[in-house]
Amino acid sequence: MRRGGDEPRISASEPALRVIMRRLREILAEPGDGQSRLDKIVRQIAGVMVAEVCSIYLKRRDHSLELFATEGLHREAVHNTRLNRGEGLVGRCAELAVPINEPDAQSHPAFSYRPETGEEAYHSLLAVPIQRSGQVIGVLVVQNHTAKHYSEDDTEVLQATAMVIAELLVSGAVSGTEADIEISKSLSAVIKGEVISDGIALGHAVLHEPRVVVSTLMADDPAVELGRLEAALAALHTSLDEMFEHDRLLADGEHRDVLEAYRMFAKDRGWQRRLGEAVKGGLTAEAAVERVQNSTRAQMLRHADPYWRERVRDLDDLSDRLLRILTGHTGEDRPVELPPDAILIARTMGPAELLDYDRTRLRGLIVEDGSRQSHVAIVAKALGIAAIGQARRIVEHVANGDAVIVDGETGEVHVRPSADLVKSYSDKVRFRAKRQERYHKLRDVPAVTVDGIPIRLSMNAGLIADMPHLEESGAEGVGLFRTEIQFMLSEKMPRLMQQAEAYRAVLAEAAGKPVVFRTLDIGGDKMLPYLSALPEENPAMGWRATRMVLDRPALFRAQVRALLRAANGRRLDMMVPMLSMSSEMDELRSLLDKELVHAKRHGYPLPSTLNVGAMLEVPSLLYELDALLPKVDFISVGSNDLLQFLFAADRTNAQVASRYDPLSIAPMRALKHLITKASEQSVPLTVCGEMAGSPLSAMALIGLGCRSLSMAASSIGPIKAMVLSLNAGQLAERLDILLGKTDIDLHANLLNFAERHGVEL
Ligand code: PEP
Ligand code: MG
Repeated sequence: MRRGGDEPRISASEPALRVIMRRLREILAEPGDGQSRLDKIVRQIAGVMVAEVCSIYLKRRDHSLELFATEGLHREAVHNTRLNRGEGLVGRCAELAVPINEPDAQSHPAFSYRPETGEEAYHSLLAVPIQRSGQVIGVLVVQNHTAKHYSEDDTEVLQATAMVIAELLVSGAVSGTEADIEISKSLSAVIKGEVISDGIALGHAVLHEPRVVVSTLMADDPAVELGRLEAALAALHTSLDEMFEHDRLLADGEHRDVLEAYRMFAKDRGWQRRLGEAVKGGLTAEAAVERVQNSTRAQMLRHADPYWRERVRDLDDLSDRLLRILTGHTGEDRPVELPPDAILIARTMGPAELLDYDRTRLRGLIVEDGSRQSHVAIVAKALGIAAIGQARRIVEHVANGDAVIVDGETGEVHVRPSADLVKSYSDKVRFRAKRQERYHKLRDVPAVTVDGIPIRLSMNAGLIADMPHLEESGAEGVGLFRTEIQFMLSEKMPRLMQQAEAYRAVLAEAAGKPVVFRTLDIGGDKMLPYLSALPEENPAMGWRATRMVLDRPALFRAQVRALLRAANGRRLDMMVPMLSMSSEMDELRSLLDKELVHAKRHGYPLPSTLNVGAMLEVPSLLYELDALLPKVDFISVGSNDLLQFLFAADRTNAQVASRYDPLSIAPMRALKHLITKASEQSVPLTVCGEMAGSPLSAMALIGLGCRSLSMAASSIGPIKAMVLSLNAGQLAERLDILLGKTDIDLHANLLNFAERHGVEL
């Protein structure tokens, strides 16, 4: 998108597109079957574009492309010429979903010569994909004798025409042609992402922020459409100005710069001009927005400069806003009633947004960003729903109500799956249920290794609704209760009594099993809307958790007071997250002591036992254990954060988060050091990050000497099965040797150990 001062102009493409639209409308008004209509369509396009050839290829179920209609190539080739998947320039256009503009197609290495078509006579070729819901369903091609490079306007016109042809194919206006081809909504697709919460889910798509589906593409009266477009643009600008003004009161700095760039983008003359041209060309205002979004997007993605790639998100957002204004969708059109097997689909989703949905109807979640350690993933796991992250452009591929399978084993998302696939996944679900049944049988079996070492298995929780899992899973207690989730779900800061009430309910549900309350861990990807904080460049390493409460002691004291009230004279276990220096523990202790004095003075019973622990999440503490260990009653290793900081790899960014292996030498040595020191000082230690819930890494932790693990309730069964099949002594010996080596693949060695010793993973 060009910035700044171009005045709107009448483009050379304007008449061509408009003429094509008019001719298409006339063809549809005349009687005729699908084939004859397609024949007329290609003739008209060739005429208007002054091309000797115009052809339509449509995709068949086997992904080959069949010539369905042509003007200029030999008639006998129609329905005879089939290009294999990716074959020739046309196949390439379909595979890459981009226009191909070749002045001398025949000399291109990818050119595929088909004698039956007679195309050797033509040199230049312009092919554009015919797309619907992000799926390529065919290719529209023009060819000329002379070797020439088609203009940008030619490409624009052909792309806009392809968009309308796609609509005609899907709507059945050229029916009869789709007999053996796959069209749009019936097209199955597989999108590969990364598993962020295990499980398999079959269900129906619910778009978190539904995309507006544009179904009327050809305008009856371009002047009316232009008026609608201009009004919508004016409304868009007003709403952005208001948003900007409102935000000015709240924030400045980088955040404001981002907003400003966004607003400038909305006022970009080049964008508005292109929208205007598309409308003057005969598209409806909505179709113009979609058309310009697609072509501008493609141009922007070609830039190597990250600035332009960033702006793609702005373009998508602005186009969505404009479409909502045009269609009157306010964005509040989230279905109130979810289907009973909802699979949520979103570009991005925060943990609180996920919790807004009716959890009894949620089966799965698919997001375009996210990683296994992100908080939305942790909430998905707590809710027991299968979730996939990094599912590229999933939002464009799915419509509300589409059948979707989430494979939380392989990371695959199957959109509009075939009946066979649904059946095979239903079998898989039944198989998993059987396995769950087996884990259920282990519920009351003590978790003791083959060589007689007991391993404490606790569960992580954050919602009162998680608590029944304690009984169902057979966990020995709650090793990590994330108290911030209550805060995230609340519209305003929960008052002392509300907090106390929530903790009382958790303790009541735990029925005597210990619960370790983790004090507020806010910041990073867990922001509270009511707690204003300055925008930060690196929130994960910024003002969060303990750092925040040390600056706002009242926050910490209120929470401690609520915990003391809830414990009401019983045992209380609490721990503090994100400690970076042992001296912070002293500061927290002194706040805690003040609360104990306060409770005593006001006649509240003190806890029978008070255990205060520190979470080990920041690597600096590894070098201060001698000072820290005497100050705490226990250590809890937050491996999600510890690994993020050890490797300097953002846990929410799968591109880097999955790049480093927790089972490699560096983190294993760090953990070994920590576990050994804690054990020497007789300070109990638990690992409560995601590592504790994956059988292979839990096995490694036990090999390092860890005897207590806390994990999602659904992992208790698989981890117990692993423990029951493990000889911890043998593994410890092996690990000792391995950790002394350099340049080895520790992960592979651990897998090999498990395999050789029959450890159930
Ligand atoms: C961790 O960091 O490992 C942890 C358990 O805390 P959270 O995932 O809530 O940051
Ligand atoms: Mg953490």
